[in-house]
Amino acid sequence: MLFEKDSFSGGVPEVHVGPVRFGGKKLVLIAGPCTVESREQMLELACAAKEAGADLLRGGAYKPRTSPLSFQGLEEKGLELLAEAREKTGLPFVTEVLDTTQLETVAAYADMLQIGSRNMCNTVLLRKAGGCGKPVFLKRGMCSTVEEFLLAAEYVLREGCRNLVLCERGIRTFETGTRFTLDLNAIPLLKKRTWLPVLADPSHGTGVSDLVAPMARASVAAGADGIMVELHANPKKALCDGSQCETPESFFEMVRSLRAVAEAVCRTL
Ligand code: PEP
Ligand code: MN
Repeated sequence: MLFEKDSFSGGVPEVHVGPVRFGGKKLVLIAGPCTVESREQMLELACAAKEAGADLLRGGAYKPRTSPLSFQGLEEKGLELLAEAREKTGLPFVTEVLDTTQLETVAAYADMLQIGSRNMCNTVLLRKAGGCGKPVFLKRGMCSTVEEFLLAAEYVLREGCRNLVLCERGIRTFETGTRFTLDLNAIPLLKKRTWLPVLADPSHGTGVSDLVAPMARASVAAGADGIMVELHANPKKALCDGSQCETPESFFEMVRSLRAVAEAVCRTL
């Protein structure tokens, strides 16, 4: 299997998105809104993310919502705003592609394509994304085992993609106090099984903003190669996932507190 460490005789590939290297000593921080809502919102959060030390921006333009009545994203307009935020900050961005019909459009704007939890099993999308020449950010299916996650990654790798990053984003358990259960076990387990960089998403993994920073620190302690976090200046007014968003201020604090943990596991931020 291509995801395995011993499948490359000349050493495992390095994973890059533009100038950002994943899986090295330096941790990668990805931050931005759950959903791109407006120009002001996107640019404000992009600047805040950059100031706090983020390496990549995130933001959903095409949103996979549980209810068809919920806001579905600004679509191509959202991609344009992400591109403007990149222009302003110099930071590349990752954004979700929901299906193969959107692939060309999303790939024309984005530096990295996100395949979300709900699509981890969409083998047609995995193949098409893996073959389109763009880096891919693959999130774990919320009801998928680590083995299934690695096999999904294999679909992407088989199409020639080497700039692939995995993201543990929480799984469904019987616990109702949190939205999902961030599976910390999966981080060292994935690191043992694969050469692919592994990030953690404590925003979706908890669903509770007060728990994001502690679980970000725990993820780094467990060996994660970086963190993806959702931001909003006014979480109560967010169109999506406000309950799990960090404010620019709390994100700044979170990054500060992550430094000590990073140092303890011989990583940098
Ligand atoms: C997201 O990151 O925007 C998202 C929808 O996450 P997930 O696919 O993990 O639910
Ligand atoms: Mn979200």
